[in-house]
Amino acid sequence: MASVKQDQASEMSSFEVRSSDRDHPGLAIAVLVDYDGTIATNDVTDDLVRAASSETEWLDLELAYRSGAVGSRALLEAETRLLPPERADLPDLLRHQPHDPAFVPFIEFARRHGIAVEIVSDGLGFFVGPAIAALGVGDIPIYSAELRFEPDGPRISFPNGNPDCAICGTCKRSRVLAHQAAGRHVVYVGDGYSDQYAVSYADTVFAKGDLVDICRDRGVAHRGWSTFADVEEWLRRNLVDGLPAPTAHRFVCGPEADSAGAPGRQPAPG
Ligand SMILES: [Mg+2]
Repeated sequence: MASVKQDQASEMSSFEVRSSDRDHPGLAIAVLVDYDGTIATNDVTDDLVRAASSETEWLDLELAYRSGAVGSRALLEAETRLLPPERADLPDLLRHQPHDPAFVPFIEFARRHGIAVEIVSDGLGFFVGPAIAALGVGDIPIYSAELRFEPDGPRISFPNGNPDCAICGTCKRSRVLAHQAAGRHVVYVGDGYSDQYAVSYADTVFAKGDLVDICRDRGVAHRGWSTFADVEEWLRRNLVDGLPAPTAHRFVCGPEADSAGAPGRQPAPG
């Protein structure tokens, strides 16, 4: 079973150390979770931009992103320019946004077992915090872009981007590596292109939607899932025997991949 060293416990500043950790001193698992299409049952970022723009505008951007012609940072900057100038003019999609009904029970399970959970979102991001709070689990750490509606219109920034790589808006890989450096087995749960790099680093991958084909094409081992009950069940079974410690991996994105000439690297946005 993976172990948390005493001196590593102090590094757990990025998420709350639950009281139940004391009951599972050898447990060292972090679950990183995408939001759009994963916790939310549809892609909220895509739906907002599609509703605020013409279908052609959205589709051209999406195809450029999926082909690797632009990264998510350039995509999100372009999509932000398609949004209305004031938040009040956004399409009214957020109030009734559906979420996986198994997500909150999964969070309760994780808390009982001292498993860290983080949300890593490479979408527009601004709606994630309010949505999670409305579900009653608003204290889950969120790593995403920051979008603000300012007097001259919406502005997006990327406080969780990789300062040495301009491809993604939010660097999910950085969160995977941070938890692994602290000795945790990283379980990753996602559904699409925004997860395409993180899955190459995570120790266990749950994939659905487009992420299944991405994993297959890139030779990434993965498990299918449809709701968080599947992830919970898998964790419940594997907690008995424990999960293997993180292993070294080959870099497929980021500045390390540039120097290694890794295949599958997206070009920098033009
Ligand atoms: Mg997604």
